[in-house]
Amino acid sequence: MSLTDITQRIRHAEAAAGRAPGAVHLIAVSKVQPNERVEAVLDAGHRCFGENRVQEAAGKWPQFRDTFDNIDLHLIGPLQTNKARQAMELFQAIHSVDRPKLANTLARLAQDIGTCPDLFVQVNTGEEDQKAGVMPADTDAFVQTCRDLDLPLRGLMCIPPVDEEASLHFALLAKLAKRNGLDQLSMGMSADFETAIALGATHVRVGSAIFGERVKPA
Ligand SMILES: *Cc1c(COP(=O)(O)O)cnc(C)c1O
Repeated sequence: MSLTDITQRIRHAEAAAGRAPGAVHLIAVSKVQPNERVEAVLDAGHRCFGENRVQEAAGKWPQFRDTFDNIDLHLIGPLQTNKARQAMELFQAIHSVDRPKLANTLARLAQDIGTCPDLFVQVNTGEEDQKAGVMPADTDAFVQTCRDLDLPLRGLMCIPPVDEEASLHFALLAKLAKRNGLDQLSMGMSADFETAIALGATHVRVGSAIFGERVKPA
């Protein structure tokens, strides 16, 4: 299991970037991984995980929570408003806030439930048609919308285009966050988390490098 390797590489990248040890949170992305692999990582003491589908997460995490304490679960995939309540009850953080309708729904439910997960606005830094996220030019206004709704907005998240230099996208996300007074950055995956840390990532989302190749497509 390469959780130890990845954790070491994160510590090295933090040091190289002059960041404090532990400044970067490792979100182990467990989507579509067999339960035995997830359990091995839990057994090793890791508690922070990411899933990209509410339904899949709801099907597997309640039972892990019966066995393991303090599981910190992050939603890193798109969220439909009709699954928002379920997501808010299951996850400690949602990284995919990307439209006013969803922000409004989260705000209403937060009133109702009395608590709200930590939120990240997803930015479509590559301005790709098929990808979720607010456009870079709309980010400031949408951050303001979330703040007007009193949502616990912590930072920004991006998924760079597969065929482009990720560092340009990480740098853009960092710039947008700084300009908006947000200090958390969810960026970096298996192939590029060290680059993301050099550019200020506080949350890296690493799947296959920890668990091995996904058995089914996500
Ligand atoms: C699947 C996924 C990851 C992890 O990808 P790997 O390349 O396996 O590390 C990270 N972020 C998001 C949003 C994902 O959907």
